Amino acid sequence: MSGNVETTLRGPDAYKVAHRTLEIMERHAVWPTPLNFELWSHYVADPEGPLARELNRLLSIGEPLTETVSEELAAVYLAKARLNEQIRDAGDQLSKELAAVSRAIVQAQKSHETYGQTLAGASKGLADAKDTAQIKAMVDSLSTATRRVQRENKSLEKKLAESTGEVQRLREHLEQVRRDATTDGLTNLANRKAFDEELARACAEADENGSILTLAVLDIDHFKSFNDTWGHQTGDQVIRYVASVIGSRGATPRFSARYGGEEFAMIFPGEDAALVEACLEEIREEVASRMLKRRSTNEDLGTVTVSAGLATRQEGETGSCVMERADKALYASKRTGRNRVTNAEKPAKAA
Ligand code: GH3
Ligand code: MG
Ligand code: MG
Repeated sequence: MSGNVETTLRGPDAYKVAHRTLEIMERHAVWPTPLNFELWSHYVADPEGPLARELNRLLSIGEPLTETVSEELAAVYLAKARLNEQIRDAGDQLSKELAAVSRAIVQAQKSHETYGQTLAGASKGLADAKDTAQIKAMVDSLSTATRRVQRENKSLEKKLAESTGEVQRLREHLEQVRRDATTDGLTNLANRKAFDEELARACAEADENGSILTLAVLDIDHFKSFNDTWGHQTGDQVIRYVASVIGSRGATPRFSARYGGEEFAMIFPGEDAALVEACLEEIREEVASRMLKRRSTNEDLGTVTVSAGLATRQEGETGSCVMERADKALYASKRTGRNRVTNAEKPAKAA
């Protein structure tokens, strides 16, 4: 489903949308299952969207909205369900390919067995052969058998080459599906799920190598009032802009993610607090110095600022403990005036 619906469902109108969803469901006697709620909240949040149009069509022809109908709609219109479906499809195709390959191999084994028997028979036949006519007949039958095996080898080779191609295609498709599942749709940064996985991996690696690791959490300042003034769509545009600044400084071996609404998180493997503080200062300054313009009307939006907190992992500390300390440092930045970076190890004095 479009990023806008997801934004609306998490935006300031979320409760309104939820109330209206239940109202409409009750009006149409739709049973309040979690799946139906998901479908109908998309209906309310995006009344002109493809899912809403399809629901309207079904209502207008008086189609009973059974569980099966809901599941079919979810499979087509809800991103998560579509993803599961794609994974299942790719899995099914992979099993089919593997079954075809194993059938071809069994077939090839059988024909080689037959060929072996033919050879054994021929060797005995040759030993017992009385004249050249008999020898000639034996050799003829041997070359026929040899040609048949060659033909079958060729077709096995062809089948294997086709399957290899198909498996490669499926692998790329699954890789794409996996990328979609770990990427934030609005900003193209990693999403929270991917961040949590990467954090666990990075902590394990730091333990293994005895290396350090620093985490940062960044949050756009006063973003609620920015949204209230300029609207959610323009707000989204700003989230994308801030994400691009963060992403440009968070490339491998660093890792950057959209952690939630207007909040971002970064991992800095092997970097100490001083290095990370310098990087966050650069991000902070770049964001604060950019005059933003509304894309649709070219109006001046002024500037936005970000606050950040960072914490360096202590030996053996879990990822979530470090995150908690970085988060506390972020809140120290907020408390002491915003548009600043705070190191958990030496929090600033109150403003
Ligand atoms: P603070 O400086 O303390 O962080 O203030 P704030 O207003 O940024 O913080 P608060 O947590 O009160 O509000 C965050 C706002 O971010 C609320 C919500 O409207 C907005 N927001 C969250 N996710 C999205 C999104 O995906 N798109 C848009 N446009 N706004 C979002
Ligand atoms: Mg904020
Ligand atoms: Mg926030």
